[in-house]
Amino acid sequence: MPQVRKNRFLAAIYSFLVWGLGEMYAGVTNLKIGIGVILMIFWLFYLVTCFILNVHPLIFALIYILVGCISAIDSYRDADSFNMRIKLEEARRRAPNRCPNCGKEITGNPRFCPNCGYKLVI
Ligand SMILES: [Zn+2]
Repeated sequence: MPQVRKNRFLAAIYSFLVWGLGEMYAGVTNLKIGIGVILMIFWLFYLVTCFILNVHPLIFALIYILVGCISAIDSYRDADSFNMRIKLEEARRRAPNRCPNCGKEITGNPRFCPNCGYKLVI
């Protein structure tokens, strides 16, 4: 039963809207999600403070878009590496001692294929 691939663009869109959400979707279980959530909380505090101090709304928009873009790129990469990991696992199940890229037989446990240089561990 092949595992479901993650949509990179969906991951990017999620993270653009809610920081850390795309990472969560992309199967990341480490600190990054926590950082995204903490950033969101700080952002809300900042938003309230700016409303009180009457800061121009364009400044919020710029910060929001900037952090959203960084988070989106990050999620896109996370979804990509998630898919790569699945592809690698599937290839290993089919042919445990062969390179998933060039099909050359592999001895030992190298990080890269000695024939084509394909990354064998993630
Ligand atoms: Zn290879």
